Amino acid sequence: MIEIENLKKSYGQLEVLKQISFQVERKEVVAIIGPSGSGKSTLLRSIVNLETINGGNIKIDGEYLVENGHYAKPKEIQKILSKAGMVFQHFQLFPHLTVKDNLELAPKLVKKEDASVVEKRRMELLEKVGLQDRANTYPANLSGGQKQRVAIARALMMNPEILLFDEPTSALDPELTGEVLKVMKDLAEEQMTMVVVTHEMGFAREVADRIIFMDKGEIVESGTPEEIFENPKNERTKTFLMRVQ
Ligand code: ADP
Ligand code: MG
Repeated sequence: MIEIENLKKSYGQLEVLKQISFQVERKEVVAIIGPSGSGKSTLLRSIVNLETINGGNIKIDGEYLVENGHYAKPKEIQKILSKAGMVFQHFQLFPHLTVKDNLELAPKLVKKEDASVVEKRRMELLEKVGLQDRANTYPANLSGGQKQRVAIARALMMNPEILLFDEPTSALDPELTGEVLKVMKDLAEEQMTMVVVTHEMGFAREVADRIIFMDKGEIVESGTPEEIFENPKNERTKTFLMRVQ
């Protein structure tokens, strides 16, 4: 689903991603872990074209978003990125729109889908995340966990083939993380392809098929949860895990 090759990204003199390469298979759940500032967010944001990269390849579902540092044409980019949904740490809901309109806006406006089709899917997805009774609520009147579940449902409204999560529970009170992780776990069980940047080591261990450990703009080590958590090979991985576990 995703093929990254030699991805480079700098902010001025600061090299934030140094020749990153990895792949995500269809139906795979990949967790990306690593210290703050290691480039995890920049990597996810680059994949969905919220950051412009300085070199390398990004391929989504077999199509080049970026080939040797050259971006596809805007129309192509839009088509390729319609396959990827993103969920952010701070939800990014539209504050002036109800839950219902947050979910329905993009399918109607961008995809020009029929209102009745969109409404039906919206009701199904709100039920899936346990918020069917909140359609007419504004984001300000939801808890953090509810906001994040709305954000996930909104991403799913576009029928993505892959979902990217950037620390989806980091802004939540501890007692609210479980309800969001549960929704993500359900999606994984339904074989959604997912890339999850997370500090929730329990979730990574239990749900991810593969763990990628990043530090200072590089992939230092990757492997199964067992390999990374029980038997880390690299000193940097060991030090990081000792600090967070
Ligand atoms: P992580 O998500 O792993 O914490 P980030 O991808 O947010 O890491 O950041 C990686 C590095 O890039 C950090 O050193 C950060 O300060 C820097 N950085 C991120 N965004 C910008 C930006 N817009 N301008 C300059 N530097 C940035
Ligand atoms: Mg980050």
